[in-house]
Amino acid sequence: MATKKCSVSGCDNKYRSIGFCSAHWKINKKYGTPTPLCWCGEPAQTHAGNQGASILCTTHTLTARFWAYVDIKNLDECWEWTGTKTAANYGLIYWNGKLEYAHRLSLEMDGRPVPSRWHACHTCDNPPCVNPSHLFAGTPKENVMDKVSKGRHTYGETHPNAKLSNTEVKNIRKLASEGMFQSDIAHTYGLNESYVSELVAGLKRRDILDKE
Ligand SMILES: [Zn+2]
Ligand SMILES: [Zn+2]
Ligand SMILES: [Zn+2]
Repeated sequence: MATKKCSVSGCDNKYRSIGFCSAHWKINKKYGTPTPLCWCGEPAQTHAGNQGASILCTTHTLTARFWAYVDIKNLDECWEWTGTKTAANYGLIYWNGKLEYAHRLSLEMDGRPVPSRWHACHTCDNPPCVNPSHLFAGTPKENVMDKVSKGRHTYGETHPNAKLSNTEVKNIRKLASEGMFQSDIAHTYGLNESYVSELVAGLKRRDILDKE
């Protein structure tokens, strides 16, 4: 006699009871179905981290997390980021294993992904704003022109190691202490990885450590 298997298609796990393996049995008990779906039709996340408050796919779990950090107003107003920000006041979010600019992701979620080396630019000149109708993808040149025409010089989205503000140094140390990979921090801030590790270890910019 063949051994009983889980009835969920594609699952080869050992049978437990009422037609399911142990994993699908638990999911079925929690959600009333062994294969819950997101409202978009994609399979919902069912791992231990999802407390079942909302049944969402990987993409929509991220999307929901993103908008939870946004102060959403009328379409013509600025929607400011309430989460972590860079010294230059751009929103940051840990996304798919990487630290990303919130305004860049907002464009991406609006179906207008920003090509690499291009910049997510604001028509409202308000860095924490993530209202997609205030954002556009600009070439590196347009980004510089934009800043020059606005008559101010701010840090770009990447800058040499020496230009880090005190707040940025503190942010970098905080992110590292929260478990973010130094290589991801380096990538996000446009720094050398070795410089990031020196910052985190307190070998560089020690003065800021002492002021804590
Ligand atoms: Zn199963
Ligand atoms: Zn979904
Ligand atoms: Zn705005």
